[in-house]
Order: sequence, then structure tokens, then C-alpha cells
Amino acid sequence: MDEFSLISQLIAPAAGARADVVLGIGDDGALVRPPPGEALVLVLDTLVEAVHFPRGFPPEDIGFRTAASNLSDLAAMGATPLWATLGLTLPQPDAAWVRAFMAGLHTAFMPYQVQLVGGDTTRGPLCISLQLTGSVPEALALRRNGARPGDRLFVSGTLGDAAAGLASLSVPDPSPEIADLRARFARPSARVALGQALRGLATSCIDVSDGLLADLGHLLERSACGAELRIDHIPLSPMLSGMADPDQVLALALTGGDDYELCFTLPAATPAAAVETLRGHCHVTEIGLITAQAGALALRDSAGPVALPAARGYRHFP
Ligand code: ADP
Ligand code: MG
Repeated sequence: MDEFSLISQLIAPAAGARADVVLGIGDDGALVRPPPGEALVLVLDTLVEAVHFPRGFPPEDIGFRTAASNLSDLAAMGATPLWATLGLTLPQPDAAWVRAFMAGLHTAFMPYQVQLVGGDTTRGPLCISLQLTGSVPEALALRRNGARPGDRLFVSGTLGDAAAGLASLSVPDPSPEIADLRARFARPSARVALGQALRGLATSCIDVSDGLLADLGHLLERSACGAELRIDHIPLSPMLSGMADPDQVLALALTGGDDYELCFTLPAATPAAAVETLRGHCHVTEIGLITAQAGALALRDSAGPVALPAARGYRHFP
């Protein structure tokens, strides 16, 4: 199958259809109508075989994950997802692979009606680059830099599951618990609705893609604050808690990547009812407090201070 048949037979038919797309796949560029009065939010994520997913990983999961990691960046900005462009580099024009990849991508896009409006297809080592555009009222965009001393620190969902799922990919005949953890790696749920609900409420927000300590560290750096983290309040799934010893579980939850949860801060005076509204979207847990000392991340449990683990999260260039 040549590049043009791949695009016209497999990619374009799975692209979706939005009223604000004037011209989608098929011309030199896409023409879209931005929502009146809103700012556009542009994000991009690249997934490389053997770096972000193992060789032979199911193409449907690769498609879903690629979409979810981008949707998660939009969620962390409080944005509404709109359009996508896709850079696809394939070792060979494998129709079955592309069909399955597009099915996964489409499944992740469907709840938000994201339309794939263009891209580029080339030959080379398997690599997927997806660019998403979303929108948000400019003044309401969530940023990393707005946390203030006294703010309450929260995280959505549970942490460490995806890292445990990735680590267990080579286990033959997985138990139902391991299968659940693997699904958290293969099919993460981006917290798009939560991100939008945080507009006008959260003082700062970041998505947890490289591990809580690493990503919280970025938020604190941009906000010039510190934090006190209650490690005994870190939300853990029953699957993960039941799988390994408590120290290993905590290390995964603090430094494991790929969970795509949101870490955010709320002013101390946020009414309890507002926090409850957030819980209508997904599991939300208070895990600490923002402090005044820039860059100081202190861990504690009910008994007192706890040492910081040496490894803080995934880095591509250590
Ligand atoms: P050009 O040579 O002008 O760059 P292409 O032949 O690469 O155009 O692409 C033809 C059309 O198909 C364009 O509209 C382009 O955006 C779209 N397209 C190509 N590859 C992809 C892809 N992987 N995903 C989505 N659209 C694609
Ligand atoms: Mg052209």
C-alpha cells in the first residue's frame, strides 16, 4: 500500500467531522474556525518505539495512548480539545497496523469529537507525533505558575498504576490485577472534564506524566513555592497496593510516570462544595499544602518527616 492509499483509505475515513473544520485532510493545510473569544492551546507529544512503548506493543493501544497523552496536556491547561494533526513515521506501509492504530486514536478522540485535520506520513523507525489544538477563555487557562503558600494540593485518580503496568508487561498469564494495571498504561484516561471544571478555581495545575515528584517539582519551580506532601495520603489503587511491598508501591506512586492524572492547587478558602463538585468528575484527593520556601519539597506521614527518594521521575537525558 502506498502513502496516498494509506491516507485516503485508512487515515482520512477515521478522522471525524466537526462543523468548525472548513477544510480537513486532502489539501496542503487544514482550515479551521477558532471558537469566538477563546484562546487556542497547542500541545504536541511524540511516542517512539522502544522508548515510550515496547516493540510489538498493540497498535490500537499506541493510538489510544498517543491521543491520551496529548488530551492530558490540554486537560492540564483547562482546555476543550478541538483538532489534531498527526506525524506518522512507519518502517513499512502496514495496512493492518495503521487500521488498528487509527481505531485506538479514534476511540480516545470520540468522547471529545476531536477531528484529525492533517498530518504527514513518512518511512523510518516507528515514531508517532501528535499535535492537538484546544481552546479556553484566555483568562481561565490553567497554568503551572499560580500556586501560593497556603494553597491546598490535590491529585486526581490513583498514582503508580501505569508504571507498575509497564513493568509487568513481560509477565506471562497476567492476573486480573496485573491486567488492570497494564490497562492503566495502555489506555490512560485524560482528565479533560476535571481540567475544565478547574477553570476559575485552581491556582495552578500540571499533568502527571513523568511522576508526581518530578511534575510537582516543575509546578513548584514555576510558582516559586515549596510543598509539604503527605505520603500517607497519596491515592493508591487496590490493584497496586496488593501487588508489592509498601515501600515499592510508594516509590512507584511518587516517581512512576504515565498516569496522566492532574496535580493542582486550590486556595485555602475554596468552599467544600466546590471540591465536592470536582469529585463529581473523578476521584480527587488532597495530598498536601503549598509552602513559602521556594523549591523545598518536604515529605511527611502521620509520624513526621520522611526522606525524599533519590530518583524523582523519568528523564530522557539524565
Ligand atoms: P504534502 O505533500 O502537501 O505535504 P501530503 O501528500 O503529505 O501533502 O498529504 C496529503 C494530505 O494528507 C494532507 O492534507 C495531509 O495533511 C494529509 N495527511 C498526510 N499524512 C497524514 C497523517 N498521518 N494523518 C493525517 N493526515 C495526513
Ligand atoms: Mg503540499
